[in-house]
This record gives sequence, C-alpha cells and structure tokens, in this order.
Amino acid sequence: MKHTMNLYTLNRLLILCLLSGIGSAVLAQGASVSATTKKQAKGIRTLIVGGGSSHDFDRWYKEEDVETLEKKGLATVQYTDNTDSIIHYLSEIDVLYLSNNQPIKDPATRKAIFDFVEEGNGLVLGHAALWYNWKDWPEYNAQLVSGGSRGHDRYGEFTVEIDKNHPVTKKVKSFTLKDELYYFEPDPAGPGIEVLATAKGADKSFPSVFVVKHAKGKIVGIALGHDAESHELPAYQTLLRNAVQWAAQ
Ligand SMILES: [Zn+2]
Repeated sequence: MKHTMNLYTLNRLLILCLLSGIGSAVLAQGASVSATTKKQAKGIRTLIVGGGSSHDFDRWYKEEDVETLEKKGLATVQYTDNTDSIIHYLSEIDVLYLSNNQPIKDPATRKAIFDFVEEGNGLVLGHAALWYNWKDWPEYNAQLVSGGSRGHDRYGEFTVEIDKNHPVTKKVKSFTLKDELYYFEPDPAGPGIEVLATAKGADKSFPSVFVVKHAKGKIVGIALGHDAESHELPAYQTLLRNAVQWAAQ
C-alpha cells in the first residue's frame, strides 16, 4: 500500500512537472510573440491619407512626408489615396494623418474615424484637410478640425511665428516660407483650439499650427504643406514629426 501511494505521488509529481513545463512553454511563447509584434511594429504606426485636387499628394505626402516620419525609426508609415480602405487600417495604427481633399464618402468610414479619435487615438490634419471640403459632412470640420479654411492668400512668402512652448513646437523657431497662407477660422461651436504657431499675413494673422481641444483624441492641425517649400523645410519636418509623436501618446 505504501509502495502504491509512493507511485501515485510520483505520478502526480510527474504530471505537475509536465503541466508546469507546458505552462512555462506557453508563457514563453506568449512573451516571444508579444516581443516579436513590438519588434515588427517599429515606431509609431501611422497611416497617411492623400488624394484630391490642386496638390501633388504622391510627391509630398506619399514620398516626402513618409520619409520625414520614418527617419531614425520614429514611425512606420503606410499611405493610401483610397479613402474606402481607411477603415481597414484603423485597428492597427496609432496615428491617422489626413491630408486629402478628396471626399471620404463611406458612412461607415466616417463613423470609424470618429470612433478612432473618441478612443483617444491620434489625428494629424495637414493643409488641404483643414479646408471646408465636404458640405455633406459638417461634423468633420465642427468636431475634428474645430473650424476650417475657406480661402487663402495667393501662394507666396510669409512668416510663421511660434507662440507656445509645446511638445509639437519643440526645437522649432519662427521661420519664413513660401506656401498658401490659409485663412483658418476656429468654429466657436467646436471644441476649440490651442494655437501653437501663427501665420503672419499682410493684413491679418491666422492659426498655422494648433491643437484641437478634443475631449479624448489627440488632434494636431498643420495648415502648411502646399508643396516642396514646406515639405522639404526642416522646420516643417520637425513640426510634423513632433505632431505625430505627440498625437501617438
Ligand atoms: Zn495647397
């Protein structure tokens, strides 16, 4: 009997060892999977959306801004000009960067973008995306942009003055460039904006870089970006990198 008990105990011990061995193996596998996932997703996962009129989206967003953001491993960037595809990226990105002035028509995609921001994710809005582009989607300007532009100075030189110390304006000093000076007007009915940099026009000044005071999402607006004169400018590139970095937090 005693001998049997011993065998029984031994068997139980063996089973326990085996089980704990399997457990450790499962744990180890889990750890390595998560390490691999993190390793594969190098930097801030960003989707740039372009396409529409009046701009060379391929050259300045798909090529130049992607290169700017991927420098030193800051971000892993994907680009699309198919607005119906946005919805499929949202679950696997940290920051959505809209630069398009082509319409986003699909109601499910519109809702998914609002949900994405509502979940506290990052949204960067560049140049053409700050325009009042869509009459049938006023919520976009009212709630995500907190305003918009309906006009701009003729393309030319102007100064952008940095107003505030903020992570988005870090290491950027006031600068001069050639661009379209957007007449960005905040919407009093929107969540409001915090102006970080101002474009100084001949008669009037307008917000050039700002943060939208959204309750959950981290939204940055950059009114600059018509062509090479901004996208190749170190000050613009730093602002864009800072914006994506801040929005991803
Ligand atoms: Zn433009």
